[in-house]
Amino acid sequence: MKKFTNIQGVVDWRLCVGCGACAYACPQGNIELQDLEREGLRPSLKAGRCQGCGTCLAVCPGLGVARQGQEAPGSIRELFTGWGTVLEVLEGYAVDPELRYQGSSGGLITALALYGLEKGGLAGAQHIGADPEQPWKNVPGVSQNRDQLLHRAGSRYAPAAPCAGLGLLESAPGSLAFIGKPCDLAGLSKTLNAYPDLAAKVGLTLGIFCAGTPSTQATVDLLKKMKVDPSGVHEVRYRGRGWPGSFRARPAGGGRGAAEMPYEEAWSFLEKYRPYRCYLCPDATSELADISCGDPWYRERQAGEAGVSLVLVRTEKGRDLVRGARQTGYVQLEPRNPRVLVESQKGILNKRGAIWGRLLTMKAFGLPTPGYEGFPLYLQWKDLPWEEKVRSILGTGKRIVRRKYFLPQRLAMRG
Ligand SMILES: Cc1cc2nc3c(=O)[nH]c(=O)nc-3n(C[C@H](O)[C@H](O)[C@H](O)COP(=O)(O)OP(=O)(O)OC[C@H]3O[C@@H](n4cnc5c(N)ncnc54)[C@H](O)[C@@H]3O)c2cc1C
Repeated sequence: MKKFTNIQGVVDWRLCVGCGACAYACPQGNIELQDLEREGLRPSLKAGRCQGCGTCLAVCPGLGVARQGQEAPGSIRELFTGWGTVLEVLEGYAVDPELRYQGSSGGLITALALYGLEKGGLAGAQHIGADPEQPWKNVPGVSQNRDQLLHRAGSRYAPAAPCAGLGLLESAPGSLAFIGKPCDLAGLSKTLNAYPDLAAKVGLTLGIFCAGTPSTQATVDLLKKMKVDPSGVHEVRYRGRGWPGSFRARPAGGGRGAAEMPYEEAWSFLEKYRPYRCYLCPDATSELADISCGDPWYRERQAGEAGVSLVLVRTEKGRDLVRGARQTGYVQLEPRNPRVLVESQKGILNKRGAIWGRLLTMKAFGLPTPGYEGFPLYLQWKDLPWEEKVRSILGTGKRIVRRKYFLPQRLAMRG
């Protein structure tokens, strides 16, 4: 295993997940994020200033993630191997029709954050939203009222680094809900280990399901394919306005002439730009969150159907919040059979099955790999059909050779 002295090695060997935790945690403030347009947001060290303290490595989820090795009391046994601790599986939507309409699926995350803000003792939510200057990019921010939450609602299928904004959380007047992807929650969890005082500021964690984040180039190329010049775009929304809605780019100066593409078509274009690191992610459903949300893809959608979210309650804190939000009319939720999670997210389960084979191949090439604790990856690989087992190994080998992954990134880019 290669020994890294700072975050540069993580970037060079393509292990970075782009959460931004290192940029917050570096005691010298030596780390900035840069957008590698074909890969994602990646840390860049200010030349010659690193003192080698190792804090950036301590908070880095790219180097590894740990999940509870054993089922927590009350968790649904049949889901534990594939999905971590799940206390309840629910399906529903934000009762506020605007949150539901603008949200990605049922606007559930936004409605729960709003309940936390208005009734649950939280001062707001820290999450990402579109960069006002370049709306096909994302920036972290804090929402302290309904309008701000609504403005940042919806999935953004482009690099986003909520942990880079942990300074906002630190200086917030009270505790906040932190909203992010599985890798962002892993970055947060490691940062709280390194900076325990910050934990008092995290009132709740809300996670989204994530099958991988397309690079910035994905959106730029999609806009070009739609004959839209990115420099004239005022707003980019990836989904919402119905379920699953459509990709929409609105030009400056009003809604007229907005370019639209159905979600399915847009995602099948964007997904090809997910970096290889996302294919090694063992947690696609935000196992470290108090509550996580995704799409209930298990059933056919009717044309014009209003959105719904699949909700996994993972902790007692999450359960209390959901109960309060239901009782006060912020959300409408019904219990579902745990099987609907498996039926909704087959792609995620198959991807996870392949990880053990991928990591094995990387090790055979002498490449550094992330360390995963508590994830039964071998068991899931063993359950794959033999063709997929072979593909997880040979496909990875081919990719390493073709894309020169045996070289560190900077050398490969120069070569
Ligand atoms: C890259 C990506 C891949 C996804 N893959 C899947 C999948 O495979 N299966 C599935 O069921 N669902 C997936 N989702 C999640 C899904 O798109 C919805 O976000 C989820 O259903 C919650 O919807 P909602 O209406 O309850 O959330 P909303 O109320 O719309 O709130 C969404 C929240 O997520 C935050 N957010 C949006 N984009 C990002 C981002 N890139 N990084 C961090 N935070 C973000 C927003 O700030 C907002 O607070 C993915 C989302 C993303 C961003």
